[in-house]
Amino acid sequence: MTVGESSSLETLRAELDATKTALAESEQRLTTFFAYAPEAIVMLDADTGQFIDVNPRAEALFGFPRDKLIGLGPIDMSPAHQPGGLASSESAACYIRAAVEGGEPTFEWWHNNAEGQQFPCEVRLVRMPWGQRTIIRGSITEISERKQFELFERGRSQVLEQIARGNSLTSVLHTLVTSIEEILSGMVCSVLVLDQETQTLHIGAAPSLPKCYNDAVDGLKIGPATGSCGTAAHTRKRVIVSDIRTHEYWAEYPSIVEKLAQRACWSEPIISLDGAVLGTFAMYYCEAREPVRLELEIIEISAQLAGIAIEHERNKVLLRDINESLERRVARRTESLAKANEALERSNDELRQFAYIASHDLQEPIRMVTNFGQLLQKSLPNDAGSEAAEWLAFVVEGGQRMQTLVRDLLEYSEIDYQSRPYQAVQLDRVVQLVLTNLRTSIEGTNAEITCDELPTVVGDKPQLMQLLQNLISNAIKFHDQPPPKITIAADRQDNEWVISVRDRGIGIEPEYFNRIFEFFRRLHNRDRFPGTGIGLAICKRVVERHGGRIWVASSPGTGSTFFFTLPVRELH
Ligand code: ADP
Repeated sequence: MTVGESSSLETLRAELDATKTALAESEQRLTTFFAYAPEAIVMLDADTGQFIDVNPRAEALFGFPRDKLIGLGPIDMSPAHQPGGLASSESAACYIRAAVEGGEPTFEWWHNNAEGQQFPCEVRLVRMPWGQRTIIRGSITEISERKQFELFERGRSQVLEQIARGNSLTSVLHTLVTSIEEILSGMVCSVLVLDQETQTLHIGAAPSLPKCYNDAVDGLKIGPATGSCGTAAHTRKRVIVSDIRTHEYWAEYPSIVEKLAQRACWSEPIISLDGAVLGTFAMYYCEAREPVRLELEIIEISAQLAGIAIEHERNKVLLRDINESLERRVARRTESLAKANEALERSNDELRQFAYIASHDLQEPIRMVTNFGQLLQKSLPNDAGSEAAEWLAFVVEGGQRMQTLVRDLLEYSEIDYQSRPYQAVQLDRVVQLVLTNLRTSIEGTNAEITCDELPTVVGDKPQLMQLLQNLISNAIKFHDQPPPKITIAADRQDNEWVISVRDRGIGIEPEYFNRIFEFFRRLHNRDRFPGTGIGLAICKRVVERHGGRIWVASSPGTGSTFFFTLPVRELH
């Protein structure tokens, strides 16, 4: 061997040593990493289906020592079936095959531990480079908490949905309690509701606690050291009692403690949005112990949910009370209104009766005054300028005016007093009759009256005739530039007829559009246009009795159009 050859051998040996050291270090790192990994790691021989190595976390998870686990496989540490019904062996084979083929399947899996307890896990498989052998690395994380939280979320939505649907408080609280008891096995829960007046607690829902215990708790007055719930409601703070048999808060209630198989009792006060204590949400556990983080989170959110349910119920009750008192007040008001209406109706009836009888009975004496006055006028000597003749003329004129007034009054009071059964009324015919009645004034004023085709309506014929006569005679009367021109027309609008009487007369100022329909309302003195001021009041009464409306459209100097409606009706 030359010098050169031996020195290169030296170099090679040194390189080999360095590589060996690096390898040892790397192996050390890998072992450390494997041993202290936060999740359970198993090495699985895909061909034999057995673990070839596991880390301490996996030992803890499965509850077997390393040497016991090596030789077992994932199927030995799983129930026969996975949730959903698939056989664990078939399902596992699929995932392993996927990993062997280079995939990295991640999935949820239920495992068993040494004691046979099942728990949900998240598993991730990766194929490792391992010479000839097919080795799979599995990382396993227990997800019981996550699962429980998912279940809790589901329970929470269920409770909120029930509240929104308006279910009773008892049923909402019952759902809340049972859904939590399902999630946390071995846990028993209760909701107590606080009576604000008496400051006592009452059972809202506690289906899994013994009846004798619930009976003893129902009506408990809150205060310091009044059990877990009484104290929590009193102090407005969460109370954790790990063992009710030894805790001072329970010292006063040995007989109640005796009735309970549970040892731990943790209670969360239920506080409303405006800060009032509504009750408590409590968890009982059979062993004496402190709660874990998940339990604390659940107890807190459950108390909030119970709070929403109780407040919702209180608002519902409040709303119902307000509604009821409102309804009572409306009923009282309606009753007194009905009574007032009745009294009004009675007095109206009496008034109408009086007006009818008075105007009817007055006709005769007035006629006598007028007739005898006229007779006297005729029998007076011909010196017409005498005072006696002038006074007599006043008497006769006054008597005649009174006659017209009494006749109009009688007509008005007859509208209600003398009602006849409704009949089919041809308005064309009615207008013809009216024009015949008004022939003298039509001829006297040379009035031009045109009438469109008018419908047949259902009503009281004499009253409808009165209505049209009043409107047409007003249209003839209120003119200052003869001859009067009048148009009568009809228009069907939906379920009613709109009849109009239009003139080109003096018109009306808009401010009087409504007032002219009032009794005795006249816009001119008698010397210019004679009348009593009752005609349009009669029209209004007739139209309203027939279920219609009446109004006027007008502008001074151009004329007026009076409209009235009558419902389209069939005569049965
Ligand atoms: P009267 O005709 O006896 O005065 P009405 O009750 O019929 O009483 O009418 C009331 C008032 O309405 C009338 O005095 C008149 O001022 C006004 N009026 C009624 N019809 C018309 C009309 N077609 N044109 C102008 N004014 C009218």
